[in-house]
Amino acid sequence: MLTDEQFNRYQRQIALPEIGEQGQVKLSQSHVLMIGCGGLGSAASLYLAGSGVGKLVIVDDDDVDFSNLHRQVVYRDKDISSSKTEAMTNQLLALNPAVKIRSLDKRLSKSQLELEVMLADIVLDCSDNMHTRQLINQVCLEQNTDLISAAAIGWLGQFCVFDFSSKGESNACYRCLYPFDEVEQVHNCAELGVIGPVVGILGTYQALAAIQKLATGRFQFKAPMLHRFDGLQMQWQYLSITKDKQCKVCS
Ligand SMILES: [Zn+2]
Repeated sequence: MLTDEQFNRYQRQIALPEIGEQGQVKLSQSHVLMIGCGGLGSAASLYLAGSGVGKLVIVDDDDVDFSNLHRQVVYRDKDISSSKTEAMTNQLLALNPAVKIRSLDKRLSKSQLELEVMLADIVLDCSDNMHTRQLINQVCLEQNTDLISAAAIGWLGQFCVFDFSSKGESNACYRCLYPFDEVEQVHNCAELGVIGPVVGILGTYQALAAIQKLATGRFQFKAPMLHRFDGLQMQWQYLSITKDKQCKVCS
């Protein structure tokens, strides 16, 4: 049952027939693990907190830097040099004090990640490096936990959901898509340009997919499928992901 305050706060999403009161209750009982508190995590966490997820675990070992602020919209000028997880927690609680937030100001080892994934209903990969993405993919696959992955660089973004909880035999994983652990060092935000709204669009997509699954019990779109966004052409492109029979993680 929802309280009057919850009903008032969430009435515009409760009004959606796909969500309703039952969906809102499910959201309020959900546990989301979000790894990475940069631009993707900024957008995703604000919408997840606003929507009333029950528990949000946020993970990042960085501090807020001046050069983050143009795209990492959860942070404020006064947050410079604060830990990202602490600054993000403060902003999310200011938005919705009902959300239980646990912050981990560190990089997780594999065993720590395994424990956190075990506790979570769904995982958002908002990280910025291939090694972390591959590790998250592997642990989510092993634990049959749905993974919502996104990335953005320059004017381009990409988004993909791996519905590992559905246990479909033909299901591909992130490593089927990118069968390597490292990309050339230049491919990170510190050296390449990146435009804020593209990162925000992708992070918002992650929140949308998570809310769908948590509130309605399933993803209402086809997964896994690679969604690519071109922020100059303002166009989305959709590509099927085929399972790699040689994949060392899922095959
Ligand atoms: Zn695979």
